[in-house]
Amino acid sequence: MSKTITTRFAPSPTGFMHIGNLRTALYSYLLSKSQGGRFILRIEDTDQERFVEGAVDVILKTLEMTGIDYDEGPVVGGEHGPYIQSERLPIYKEYAEKLIASGHAYYCFCTPERLESLKDDKGIGGYDGYCRDLPKEEVEKNLADGVPYVIRQKMPLEGTTSYVDEVYGEVTIDNSELRDQIMIKADGYPTYNFCHVVDDYLMGVTHVVRGNEYLTSTPKYCLLYDAFGWERPTYVHLPLLMGKDEDGKVSKLSKRHGAVSFQDLVADGYLPEAIVNYIALLGWCPKDTNQEFFTMDELKANFSMEGLSKSPAVFDYEKLNWFNSEYIKKMDDESYLAKALPILDELCPAYIDTKKLAGLLKSRIYAFCEIKERIGFVLDRLDMDKELYTNKKNKTTPESCKEVLADCLPLLKNAESWDNDTLFELLKGYAASTEKKAGAVMWAIRIAIARLGVTPGGATELMEVFGKEESIARIELALSEL
Ligand code: GLU
Repeated sequence: MSKTITTRFAPSPTGFMHIGNLRTALYSYLLSKSQGGRFILRIEDTDQERFVEGAVDVILKTLEMTGIDYDEGPVVGGEHGPYIQSERLPIYKEYAEKLIASGHAYYCFCTPERLESLKDDKGIGGYDGYCRDLPKEEVEKNLADGVPYVIRQKMPLEGTTSYVDEVYGEVTIDNSELRDQIMIKADGYPTYNFCHVVDDYLMGVTHVVRGNEYLTSTPKYCLLYDAFGWERPTYVHLPLLMGKDEDGKVSKLSKRHGAVSFQDLVADGYLPEAIVNYIALLGWCPKDTNQEFFTMDELKANFSMEGLSKSPAVFDYEKLNWFNSEYIKKMDDESYLAKALPILDELCPAYIDTKKLAGLLKSRIYAFCEIKERIGFVLDRLDMDKELYTNKKNKTTPESCKEVLADCLPLLKNAESWDNDTLFELLKGYAASTEKKAGAVMWAIRIAIARLGVTPGGATELMEVFGKEESIARIELALSEL
């Protein structure tokens, strides 16, 4: 029987979740969940210099908000814990010592000064293998004397190492190019290069899904599996996420392209489901379907490694906007208002019916951050451009509009109630009795109220939003200007 497919997401707690990392988490999750497998979260925090307070919470929160649930990991626990590397130090020491005993690793006592002297003037230089074959007695004496040491992996000096990546195909490296990399540092902490291999093995990871920056270091990791006599996992390296530069070229997605962290996108009013849906398609495409909208369950049902692409995917903010606007349209009223109302209530004067305004905006915004820029005309009475009264289709002019406004003002003042339906009937009735086009009447009123050409909502909807007093005041102002 084949092993249960097990994947993991192994982020370093950097304090923010880059969209590329989130995509890695998603693909890793989907790969196992599409086949009924197990998904593990492991925190890779052995680089203590990069420690950031609260960074683990950012990871946990992001996974929670995106619906990427893990079977094992911090908080939920599991039989392979602990899941935070800094809590696993004795494990790494034990396994490093096993490799020393089997001749695949060694203690290195070289001083920082000696290592420095190996570097060229650009500061680049690998290790020369000085301590590879120290006599046993010397090693023991140094250890007994407490001479500081690191533990290094003993790389083969000749031959090649290859593996087949699921996305990129065969990767081969000349062993002579491999330096004896450090596995355990002088402070006792392991390096990523070593501890992730030990963890992946001990946690039963069958498929390693990660960014392609590790593509060419993976032969070194394969050599560690071989040295331990462990079966190597399947490797799935994912292409980089790129952003569009101003000059039309593309480069690695970074802040200059726009928001690049999950938290920033959420703060700008993008919905987690829309983000997940969009990034799922950045480097993967479903087989035999042109479907673009996927729930997490649909992704799980459709995902397969064959759909992965090795060409870099370009993050397109316009496309994300489109996805997000579609997701906003589909939101139920309660969740939509929970997001839109606080923004509107904070910005709008008390006489504005913010709930009605939110309703008008729902099908017209791509993200919640857009609300503020869309309601400038609500917050202020904009400078009037009289040309707005001219509309070819409705055959309106400033003069015809003036007449409409003057006629309607008293009617509106006497309106029985101030809701969209009543106002609409009232204006329609006026149009019919004066043999005017309803469109022409609505045009005049909408421009007078909004003082803007393109608005979310028509004349009567806007009057309802503004309330009677402000609507009348705006019509009077418009009349005085005509
Ligand atoms: N901690 C590594 C990173 O965040 C993980 C790489 C891996 O998945 O093996 O880049």
